[in-house]
Amino acid sequence: MEFGEFADTAAEIEALSADTEIIERVTELFERAASDEDGDDLPVLARFVQGRVFPAWTSRTLDIGPNYCYEAIARAAGTNVSADDVEAKLAEVGDIGEVAASYDFGGQQGLGAFGSGGGSGQSDLTVGEVDAKLAELAAAEGSGSQDKKIDILFALFNRASSREARYLARIVLSEMRIGVGEGTVRDAIAAAFEVPVESVARALQVSNDYGEVARVAHGEGAGEDDEDGETGLNAMQLEIGRPVQAMLAQAGTVGDALDDWEETAVEWKFDGARVQLHYDGEEVSIFSRNMEDVTDPLPEIVEHVHEHLDVPAILDGEVVAMEDGEPLPFQEVLRRFRRKHDVARAREEVELDLFAFDCLHADGDDLLRTPLVERHERLEDVLSGGTSALWVSDDPEEIADIEANALEAGHEGIMLKNPDSTYSPGRRGKNWLKRKPDVETLDLVVTGAEWGEGRRASFLGTFLLSARTDSGEFETLGKVATGITDEELAELTELLEPHIKSQDGQEVDISPEVVFEVGYEEIQESPTYSSGYALRFPRFLGVRDDKTPGSADSLERVERLADEQ
Ligand code: AMP
Repeated sequence: MEFGEFADTAAEIEALSADTEIIERVTELFERAASDEDGDDLPVLARFVQGRVFPAWTSRTLDIGPNYCYEAIARAAGTNVSADDVEAKLAEVGDIGEVAASYDFGGQQGLGAFGSGGGSGQSDLTVGEVDAKLAELAAAEGSGSQDKKIDILFALFNRASSREARYLARIVLSEMRIGVGEGTVRDAIAAAFEVPVESVARALQVSNDYGEVARVAHGEGAGEDDEDGETGLNAMQLEIGRPVQAMLAQAGTVGDALDDWEETAVEWKFDGARVQLHYDGEEVSIFSRNMEDVTDPLPEIVEHVHEHLDVPAILDGEVVAMEDGEPLPFQEVLRRFRRKHDVARAREEVELDLFAFDCLHADGDDLLRTPLVERHERLEDVLSGGTSALWVSDDPEEIADIEANALEAGHEGIMLKNPDSTYSPGRRGKNWLKRKPDVETLDLVVTGAEWGEGRRASFLGTFLLSARTDSGEFETLGKVATGITDEELAELTELLEPHIKSQDGQEVDISPEVVFEVGYEEIQESPTYSSGYALRFPRFLGVRDDKTPGSADSLERVERLADEQ
């Protein structure tokens, strides 16, 4: 396909605002590319239309700074234009495409005179040629490579019409901005080749390669010759060495998790940096969350994988910098990611530990659709050290204990995960929740309690909490039994027993004398307690020896906090 045809379509798309119309244009573009003799342009167009030169799974770039691009444009624009002029114009109009389109490259003497195009009409540039030249540009390395890159770009701009220059410049600087996102390309591939959107979406998740997915959807499956698009897409697999996007988490509460799933998987949230480990049976590759290859800066993790992983696999996890068994701030790991020189010395300075928490592929099996708990079992089967622990629980108290341990170990808190959920690359869905830190704590007065049971029968176990009203009364809003050690129970019993006013079975009334600091997830309106509010998952944080009931939190503050949520 002529590059001019692509540029015309891009211009049409840019002028549209309705998603459906944009998808239609992209669909037509793909259909036209597929009906061309060789169809080779289809994968390239699936990337160009998003302003991508390389597949999404690679962190490869053109590796050319904007200044070199301005230089190439200036040279193509003529002797009286400098890179500074280009930059100044860019500062004025804010779009490198518009800047490039404003020059009359066709007026250039020399090389330009041999080009058939130039000006604002069509050139003889093809999509395939632009792609090949950009690949050549990216591959230029070593001394003199920047000059070579500028020469290649200059030659392209020199032949481009102004419309072509507009989109060429935007592709080179990764600033396409014509309103075509990943979802648009997904829908257009499905529409152009009449394959289900779900098949396209899944294939994109496993391959992270829009060009390849378009090619396979068109019917050029990885396997047999005449494979239909849908079969080909469904057969696409994860590939070791080709990173997929990491599954992401949203903020949530223990309440959200237990409401939705009855039981929740609980893991520590490690304070490090995300990694995806790929092991093909011989080589280890490590990728950051942005899919950058960070294998070389992390030799100890590479060694760890060689030592503890026996089968080809793709694992997801966190690398944490440690000192004396305590995690250091995550920036330490990021510093290591960027380290190019003296890695051996850096390694001596900071210890890096792996906490793998997921397994996407093991020994030939793709596990993206396998439930989380089974994936974790597989992880523990294949990796003999450096896996994170996973608990499954429906007990807020147990979950609070796990969180307390995570915090005590210096980590960030906990993650709550749907035990049955599949692995959705790139998705920030509801199946992974990072537990929200506690909202502001409350200092509440103890106005009642219950004696414990069994081993704890001689201790007060559950404590009734109240807020102060303006008139000096106390209104109840919850009971706390979580976050208290046996030792603390004994101390609290000793502290509160002298203030017991009356007893009815296991329940006791207590004069308002002692103030507890409590954390909680949420304040809900509720008829259960006299204040009209109830604390969700209250946790004991300590006794406020320094506070009298008169200086405890008021019901007014509780109401305000409830409103602010
Ligand atoms: P955030 O960066 O705050 O959105 O939190 C999500 C990040 O927490 C993930 O991308 C991981 O890098 C990190 N993380 C730490 N521990 C875990 C875990 N057990 N499961 C999932 N992600 C984790």
